Amino acid sequence: MVWEERWHPLREEWVIVAAHRQNRPWSGETIEHNGEKLPRYDPECYLCPGNTRISGARNPLYSTTFFFDNDHPCVGQDAPPGIVAGNQVFRNRPATGIARVVCYSPRHDMSLGELDRHEIENLLVLWRDQYLELGNRPEVAHVLVFENKGEVVGVSNPHPHCQIYATNFVFKTIEIEAAASARHLSETGRPLFHDILTAEQQDGRRIIHKGDSSIAFVPYFARYAYEVYVAPMMTHASLASLSNGELTDLSETLRRVLVKYDNLWRMPFPYVMALHQSPTDGGRYDGFHFHIEFHPPLRRPRLLKYLAGPEIGGGNFLSDTSPEEKATELRCLPDTHYKRGGGNNE
Ligand SMILES: [Zn+2]
Ligand SMILES: [Zn+2]
Repeated sequence: MVWEERWHPLREEWVIVAAHRQNRPWSGETIEHNGEKLPRYDPECYLCPGNTRISGARNPLYSTTFFFDNDHPCVGQDAPPGIVAGNQVFRNRPATGIARVVCYSPRHDMSLGELDRHEIENLLVLWRDQYLELGNRPEVAHVLVFENKGEVVGVSNPHPHCQIYATNFVFKTIEIEAAASARHLSETGRPLFHDILTAEQQDGRRIIHKGDSSIAFVPYFARYAYEVYVAPMMTHASLASLSNGELTDLSETLRRVLVKYDNLWRMPFPYVMALHQSPTDGGRYDGFHFHIEFHPPLRRPRLLKYLAGPEIGGGNFLSDTSPEEKATELRCLPDTHYKRGGGNNE
């Protein structure tokens, strides 16, 4: 049983861990997994090779990855420049930036965890190149690479893909992490994330996988039941400075986490994945440690974690699960995808 508050040093906020409540009676909404087998190619899918998108543009017959500027961007070069100025305390500005979509594979029926390690490594290289290209634009302050996976996080198209928002501002979580990291570095001389990794390794109970130069773990201060961080061991502000060896090792660690996720309930595991890389606004980000965060919305196979009073009303998370228990569950799962014959641990 865990019943305590844990400090989230990257977000600088408390998380209430009340795992003793996990089995309290529940009559909330449950999520039914649509077990339909997907086709390799869907003529109606706007991401499949050779298909025409809503903009009229036609996708190439791509064979690996493919990216394009989002046809319905939330930030973009075409955002109206002549907006009506706000009044007194109200401020506004044009929503400039670039929004892109990245397809992981030409296969409509694949998920990221089903890709081969070298395909995941190629994707890491693509993400790095996008970070460099978009981040070098003067109007771009930050590049957020993220994947929303699953209908429970609002994604109706199962074709494996992620999005990139290159914005004229730094996303709030990154801003908070960057400030916390800078303060910790100036106070201790050590990167904050480095201290987190040291503490996680000393404890050991929440580590999912440790490679030669990368690691995956459920953080001590996890806010979601199956939250996992994947990171290189060395401090790099972004993907841009990883060596080829580090990229290879990171791709294997990432693959293992994704496979364990899908193996957990033998279903495509829904999550929000976000790459946390340093801003590209020209500031100094010493001590910022690139990592990938997974925030899965499900607590049990058909049970959503609801964001309610504490989270939406107050801004702090209430977790009903023990990070140590959830890490053990994930660690014990096979590293071979169930669709490729990886058994469950029954
Ligand atoms: Zn498709
Ligand atoms: Zn982060």
